[in-house]
Amino acid sequence: MSGKTFDFVIVGAGIVGLTVAYELLKRQPRTHVAVLEKEDAPGRHASGRNSGVMHCGIYYGSDTLKAKVCANGARRMIEFAKAEGIAVNQCGKVILATSEDQLPTVNKLMSNAKDNNIPAERISHQQLRELEPYAAAGPAAIYCPTTAVIDSAAVLKRLREKLEQQGVVFFFNCAITGQQGKGQLQSTLGAISYGYLINCAGAYADTVAKGFGLAQEYALVPFKGIYWKLSSAANPKVRANIYPVPDISMPFLGVHLTRVIDGNVYVGPTAIPAFGRENYGIVRGINLAESLEIGYQLAGMYLRNESNFRKLARMELGKYSKKNFLVAAQKLMPSLKMEDMIPTAKAGIRPQLVNIKTRKLEMDYILVKTDNSLHVLNAISPAFTSSLAFAELIVSNITYQSSE
Ligand SMILES: Cc1cc2nc3c(=O)[nH]c(=O)nc-3n(C[C@H](O)[C@H](O)[C@H](O)COP(=O)(O)OP(=O)(O)OC[C@H]3O[C@@H](n4cnc5c(N)ncnc54)[C@H](O)[C@@H]3O)c2cc1C
Repeated sequence: MSGKTFDFVIVGAGIVGLTVAYELLKRQPRTHVAVLEKEDAPGRHASGRNSGVMHCGIYYGSDTLKAKVCANGARRMIEFAKAEGIAVNQCGKVILATSEDQLPTVNKLMSNAKDNNIPAERISHQQLRELEPYAAAGPAAIYCPTTAVIDSAAVLKRLREKLEQQGVVFFFNCAITGQQGKGQLQSTLGAISYGYLINCAGAYADTVAKGFGLAQEYALVPFKGIYWKLSSAANPKVRANIYPVPDISMPFLGVHLTRVIDGNVYVGPTAIPAFGRENYGIVRGINLAESLEIGYQLAGMYLRNESNFRKLARMELGKYSKKNFLVAAQKLMPSLKMEDMIPTAKAGIRPQLVNIKTRKLEMDYILVKTDNSLHVLNAISPAFTSSLAFAELIVSNITYQSSE
């Protein structure tokens, strides 16, 4: 591809990269866009390994970027799926408080819902029983009717097709390795020139941004999400989505029960500290230099107990054991038994940014730019849900005008 020049080069063919390309073409139909992806197809990482839940946005304070784009993004993604014949099920979700000390968080979630105009209601034990007959009846429960599940693989496939039809050029097996002067990238397929670069590289977005002299204040720690699946005997016990009240000081929602679009019910995911940005197995995806750097960050967080990290690490590492995983699931559904949970290879990594100065996990999406590049950092959950609205916000931050 040496010598090729594009108005816009997007790094990463996950949901963020694809929706950004989609938004660019919507605004400037004749602009020249290339998407560079190091894998052989879109969605090989987070975008193809998630729970497929379209979140309603109840977890986010109104001053966050997540609040600005989550509910709107979910609405738009559901409309997109319906228009394109992609399976989507607006099945709703219940959030369960399992102890009295979660009541302040229940109130906070309800006030987020009010501030962000998200339909949500406190429900009685009787209403909970009607929605989810086997769910644990604790001190409080919230019902979110707009939560949906979607076929995320079909969304990625359809977006790719639409983009190709509109002239977007995809370079697969093409890893960005660095910059080669202003407006030129070095990749494993050769050099490529651009007017404007948009970095949507997910777990490697901070590394790409550092190549532009940005994001120096961030380090990345990956958290592994593993799942179990309910057996066919236990599967009917879950109608839609059953979530715990989360610890809102953490960017994770806790082990939940989700009936995904193909009818399977998954239990998970965990948020186990991992030693590689693509460390999906026990040792798979581990690279020595990267692991040492991550290990250094994890050790620091453990020693300083940042963001209550010791408790998180102990709790989450414990979930490698099926017994501990079952205990977390039983908080939501006490009748679940060991034999109801069957192993699955489904696993994903959440690439979480830590701010080295404040020593805190970054909770929101972050956009940083130079005069000819924009970098999407910390595109953690619910970036799939948010993507169509998030892409609009990202593209609105771009000042470059293509030559069309
Ligand atoms: C277990 C799990 C469950 C989740 N559940 C949900 C959910 O239910 N709902 C929801 O909304 N969100 C969920 N999320 C979050 C959501 O999946 C992610 O926020 C979203 O997919 C991020 O998209 P992305 O495009 O930024 O990243 P990615 O999908 O990771 O895409 C980035 C792409 O960049 C490529 N890349 C990286 N470096 C380079 C390079 N140097 N050169 C070229 N290409 C490169 C990668 O190969 C990758 O394909 C979940 C995430 C996980 C891990």
